[in-house]
Amino acid sequence: MLPYIDIHNHRLQEAPNSFQLLNCISGKENFPEIPCSVGIHPWYVLEDVNAQYETLKLQASKENALAIGECGLDKLTETNWQLQIEIFEKQIQLANELQKPLIIHSVKAYQEVFATLREQKVTVPVIFHGFNKKAELGNSILLQGYYISFGTSILQGNQDDFIQSVDLEKIFFETDDKSTNVVDIYSYFCSVRKIRMSALQEQIIQNFKKIFRYTIVE
Ligand SMILES: [Zn+2]
Repeated sequence: MLPYIDIHNHRLQEAPNSFQLLNCISGKENFPEIPCSVGIHPWYVLEDVNAQYETLKLQASKENALAIGECGLDKLTETNWQLQIEIFEKQIQLANELQKPLIIHSVKAYQEVFATLREQKVTVPVIFHGFNKKAELGNSILLQGYYISFGTSILQGNQDDFIQSVDLEKIFFETDDKSTNVVDIYSYFCSVRKIRMSALQEQIIQNFKKIFRYTIVE
């Protein structure tokens, strides 16, 4: 049976036949021994940000850290904006150095995230996680060569037109902090896109292999 891939979650779920990439918030959570992403979340920038970044560097260079993030910019959090930009820039540089993909958190800050990625000359794949916006913004993300990860928000039906047209080689699925089974997100996508589940599963496995450079062993 082909596995379902959940590229971003905060708690491992009891979900048979799924591969879950656990997200570790550096400085807040312990670094796990299983495949994970690790980054400094804009909500959790510590007072001693330099020490926090040093810790992240050590964690991110471990073999089971498949990606850097989630990291990015958030206009609704209290974290100082300038500090958010600085720590985001550092994480882009770290991803470039380690050649590991970036998982992006963006809240009301897409243009600023785009600009920062450009300024830092990002050289690794960039995935916008939890994408819940309209096709226009989605297409602009894809046009820049970046990737999109869909979460439970697609179940509300507001992204159906984007689902119908999105490039299947540029997408992932995730559960984030929700308890929804990732299979339900796959199923919804299949019904809107009118493709077979196994075709979608195969495509996502290929995307994962290519971007995360990791082969899932069952
Ligand atoms: Zn998250």
